[in-house]
Amino acid sequence: MKKDNQHIETAVIHQGYDAKDMLGSLTPPIFQTSTFTFATAEQGERRFAGEEEGYIYSRLGNPTVKILEERMASLEQAERGLAFASGMAAVSSVLIALTKANDHILCSSGLYGCTYGLLTMLQEKYQISHDFSLMDTEESIREKIKPETACIYVETPINPTIRLINLKMVADIAKEYNIPVVVDNTFSTPYLQRPLELGCDIVVHSATKYIGGHGDVIAGLVVGKKAFLDSVSMTTQKDIGGIISPFDAWLLLRGMKTLPIRMDRHCDNAEKIASMLENHPKISAVYYPFSAQMKEQHFDKQMRRGGGVLSFEINGSKKDAQTLLNHLTFIKIAVSLGDAETLIEHPATMTHAVIPENTRMEMGITDQLIRLSAGLEAWEDIWYDLEQALSKI
Ligand SMILES: *Cc1c(COP(=O)(O)O)cnc(C)c1O
Repeated sequence: MKKDNQHIETAVIHQGYDAKDMLGSLTPPIFQTSTFTFATAEQGERRFAGEEEGYIYSRLGNPTVKILEERMASLEQAERGLAFASGMAAVSSVLIALTKANDHILCSSGLYGCTYGLLTMLQEKYQISHDFSLMDTEESIREKIKPETACIYVETPINPTIRLINLKMVADIAKEYNIPVVVDNTFSTPYLQRPLELGCDIVVHSATKYIGGHGDVIAGLVVGKKAFLDSVSMTTQKDIGGIISPFDAWLLLRGMKTLPIRMDRHCDNAEKIASMLENHPKISAVYYPFSAQMKEQHFDKQMRRGGGVLSFEINGSKKDAQTLLNHLTFIKIAVSLGDAETLIEHPATMTHAVIPENTRMEMGITDQLIRLSAGLEAWEDIWYDLEQALSKI
């Protein structure tokens, strides 16, 4: 829990770390060690038996990683956090921990491409089935719940179509059936949206994106109730082993200190670019939370602001979409998001290429759809680059 009820701007800098414990070091030290020595054989026995607190081996716990996990838990108002080597290590550890053969997972329609790949693998190898739901009405959720539904898995905003799902509605229904709700909060970060406060049970993050924020680390985070995270830590995390390195944990601790100020700038830029695109003749649709075209959605209680990612459709073909990307000067063609640099990508042929075409179309991922992650540059420069590239199609 966030001690002293600190604001998130303070918590990202201070929670989980006390310099007194570390010889006064202002920034957390990197404990770059694989294992920890025991003073005696008996101490080793007590540590393994769980009778004495202390470190054993870095796959089971590391002091630098622990600071990150405690800080992240405090930001999401969770009892415990766990860090992983990637967002997918976090997602897979959670989904494997929650399910067994013949179970069922109910998902929002629209998922990160590799999460979709994982679900397909779980189905083929372990007969864990899944269904998709728009989750836009109570009925659309209830009709897809089965006796064997082991969890509900939600992304909001949905990547890359930026559709929003009412998390409180999903959580309220899930409670009736006693089914845990997992939310991928990568796009929003705890600065913009805190699913646990809305009644969801587990939050996963690709920390590669906004949490790290500098495009230099691949990492994942999970937060939730202590009992469930204890079980993940002792099963899928320990025995599959997708743990984060102490150095990468340190990079995240460093990046996180500026999360709130970065998010505000990402949001400022994305809002501005979305409104400029809405008025451009070569653009047929803009998808961004709270933008003019999506105003009917009253999600302002769920999300503080719209985030840094927007998508848009151009009047034209796949070739025209590629022409736009090819004529940008400083905006970078790259997957990923949440970096200082503005990044642009073509979901149908990149992040979501693994999804069969008909499913992809159902999800709204057309050949004309382009996703942009607004960076921290001056919005005028981002817009100038986009506008001159649009003039080439
Ligand atoms: C990037 C991403 C992931 C996967 O995270 P990695 O760190 O690349 O493994 C999962 N979900 C969402 C929404 C993402 O954007």
